[in-house]
Amino acid sequence: MLKNLCQKMFGRSLWVFHANSGGCNGCDIEVLNVLTPYYDVERFGIKLVGSPRHADVMLCQGPAMRATARALRCAYEAMPAPKLVFAIGSCACGGGIWHDSYPVLGPVEKVIPVNFYIPGCPPRPEAIIYGVAVAVGLVDKKVAPVEFKQLELPIPLYHPSDLRGRDEMVVYEKMEKI
Ligand code: SF4
Repeated sequence: MLKNLCQKMFGRSLWVFHANSGGCNGCDIEVLNVLTPYYDVERFGIKLVGSPRHADVMLCQGPAMRATARALRCAYEAMPAPKLVFAIGSCACGGGIWHDSYPVLGPVEKVIPVNFYIPGCPPRPEAIIYGVAVAVGLVDKKVAPVEFKQLELPIPLYHPSDLRGRDEMVVYEKMEKI
């Protein structure tokens, strides 16, 4: 349903605003790489704009920080509706390696509503283009659902008396052998 809505609302062009609320700039470099002539996303109608007031989409990098949360919220509120938010990178999606740092609030969804998540640290430019293209219905999703199964791994048990052999070498034996 969201895909159909996106196709209807954003089918012809996407104007994107790029916001970093506190990341390490790794994700920024990849996002800006996407916008260079090498990847040339303007052929899909995706264009970078300098103000959130002109944007359809916000690309967020970095975790939500105490210092930047208000500015991020203001930028989101300045965007005209309808609007989409992409969390790009592990920090924006879940807090990443900074999740328990004192100035970090967590993922950006703690401050603004997020519609799509593109994980990675940082995600490659191809992943960002693919994520945006799938989200707005330019290409079909190619990944089938995967069912995960828990593997049963045998955990060896040891007894303290097994730790030394006759030649005083340290040996380990399974408890079942006693
Ligand atoms: S996800 Fe990785 S590359 Fe991106 S801002 Fe966080 S630490 Fe940096």
